[in-house]
Amino acid sequence: MKEILQDLSYNQIEELTLSLGEKKFRAKQLYDGLMQGKRISDISNLSKELKSKLLERFEDEPVKIQERFISSDGTEKFLFSLSDGNLIEGVVMRYKHGNTQCVSTQVGCRMGCQFCASTLGGLVRNLTSGEILSQILTVNALLSKGGRERAITNVVLMGSGEPLDNYAHTLQFLKNVTAEGGVCISARNISLSTCGLVDKMYALADEGIPINLTVSLHATSDEDRKRIMPVARAYSIQEILKACEYYFEKTGRRYYFEYTLIAGENCDEQHAQGLIKLLKGKPCHVNLIRLNAVKERNLSPTEQKAAYRFLSLLEQGGISATLRRQMGSDIGGACGQLRAGYLEKLHKKDQE
Ligand code: SAH
Repeated sequence: MKEILQDLSYNQIEELTLSLGEKKFRAKQLYDGLMQGKRISDISNLSKELKSKLLERFEDEPVKIQERFISSDGTEKFLFSLSDGNLIEGVVMRYKHGNTQCVSTQVGCRMGCQFCASTLGGLVRNLTSGEILSQILTVNALLSKGGRERAITNVVLMGSGEPLDNYAHTLQFLKNVTAEGGVCISARNISLSTCGLVDKMYALADEGIPINLTVSLHATSDEDRKRIMPVARAYSIQEILKACEYYFEKTGRRYYFEYTLIAGENCDEQHAQGLIKLLKGKPCHVNLIRLNAVKERNLSPTEQKAAYRFLSLLEQGGISATLRRQMGSDIGGACGQLRAGYLEKLHKKDQE
């Protein structure tokens, strides 16, 4: 695989073009073209010589749209292919206030959460910052049909992978995607979700980038959490809560918890009371979501009615919470399921 030009910041692109003997203004033309989601070979105001020098070293199109699915509620899912043939997936959700894209940070995942499809085949590799960014660039280019206005206004790092397990690239991505003159998405419109890698949560807090930090909690005791999330063996819930407090002190941003409702596992009255005890008075918000059942796993979602009951128990206990609408459910599954399904199809074809 060649290098990824979209990994570079504006300053690095400027250094690169100067080192190739080009005038300074070429850097801006190149950078603008990339930020519009163009392939290197399609940036029309650059000379053929410069483009061929760049193409010797860099991928022309690091992230390609392999398949696109559009749901009846407007949600879109994308299967992307990378230069080495690996596949990742992403989702675009349409809201009144703008469009949110969910991006992947790794091919596969090694965290082993029991309910999640992304981790079924383990970790294949980290994405580079440019591969994370290019998911947004390609979708922007497609949805804005070449226009200047960018379709994606909000980003959530909740696709495949554990962003803090790919810390350096994720941090570089956050810097590049928020940079002025680039796609320039406001840090406040970006959410990063982690299964709770406490050391890296502290490191991120020290960066002082005011993104929304979300922790996937899914349990109210360490014992329960260890059953569904192996990472709970490394970090306790109390350690996670301390790191969240630190994040709040450093950034002034309230933090969020994801809580997936799994029948018979974590959504009885005792769990609601447990959550209230853990979180009462803290500057946080809880996002509840009913499990999106993964066929390889023996877990099922809680009933809709029980989910609303859980929500109202939390609210009565003084916890700020919402139950997420399930969007795009007619176009297949939760994070990781699209890729898993596609790989399965390919595998079957190979055997035919
Ligand atoms: N690794 C990160 C981000 C990726 S997963 C994390 O763990 O937070 C994004 C969110 O989707 C997490 O809260 C995760 O626990 C949740 N999730 C994964 N599989 C799910 C499923 N089948 N149904 C519902 N939520 C799921």
